[in-house]
Amino acid sequence: MRLKDRVALVTGGNVGLGKGIALAFAREGAKVVVCGRKEDKLKQVVKEIEDLGAEGMSIMVDITNSQDVKAMFSEIVKRFGTLDILVNNAGIYRSDDTGVQDRRNHLDLVTTPIPARSLGITKNMSDENWKKMFEVNVHALFYCTREALQIMEDKGYGKIINIASIAGISGISAHSPNYSASKGAVVAFTRSLGYEVAGAGICVNCIAPGYIETDEFMRGINSMDPETRARFMQLMPTRRVGKVEEYAALAVHLASEEGNYMVGQVISPNGGLVIAA
Ligand code: NDP
Repeated sequence: MRLKDRVALVTGGNVGLGKGIALAFAREGAKVVVCGRKEDKLKQVVKEIEDLGAEGMSIMVDITNSQDVKAMFSEIVKRFGTLDILVNNAGIYRSDDTGVQDRRNHLDLVTTPIPARSLGITKNMSDENWKKMFEVNVHALFYCTREALQIMEDKGYGKIINIASIAGISGISAHSPNYSASKGAVVAFTRSLGYEVAGAGICVNCIAPGYIETDEFMRGINSMDPETRARFMQLMPTRRVGKVEEYAALAVHLASEEGNYMVGQVISPNGGLVIAA
């Protein structure tokens, strides 16, 4: 019970990696709030949290609206009195108008040898698509962080875990430059904020995952032909993608007392993807 009675918010905690973290926190005794835009999925996670014997709460919110984010934090404080842990997990990958950024094409592309010509993605990207990525992955993360700091600085304690991506620290996602840039911003923000607030007892760190086995991700993998799939797995020296539990365990470590000496760090569970490059 490494997080007993801690109050945690996991943005985008209704599916995928966010859900994995929310359930791992609940197993460690935390009271867990999940937010997102899909009510049925939020309710399902709260049920799973409660089935683990923990307290759960869901909030339907679009975190790109800073006023709604403010209201969400008020609701959390009203129900639980405080907030100890913020996981800035919500994020988007897609930027529609290049036509290559749905999950399946994205994975196919990283297995394709780099052509002797430009992929032509950046020069064809619209203002709208560039900005949309930043609105969720960067601006909304800032709105949530700002509200959390109001609470955490007052009590002199807090843990903030930002979810970036391997794309923010390597060029592997050449097919989604706006995604990579947004995650690079999350990495830089983590380091700067980590420095800013460490003296106030707040540890800010970042997890920058490689490929992790969420349902959505596995749908992309499973739609590949066997040859492409094998080529994809060879990108990792481990020859496999990561398990959600392996990834969530890192978040538990950072959120717990065990992680108190971790400040401004960027940790990348990626099966060796980057060292192999
Ligand atoms: P999913 O696409 O499965 O889930 C994204 C989550 O973000 C959903 O819960 C979604 O909720 C929420 N979200 C998106 N936009 C908003 C918004 N405007 N307001 C509120 N919530 C929002 O992602 P994953 O679980 O795969 O990834 C989670 C994080 O991990 C992301 O930041 C991603 O970039 C990062 N990551 C994931 C990797 C992987 O292998 N899966 C690899 C590298 C990084 P809803 O739809 O209900 O709004």
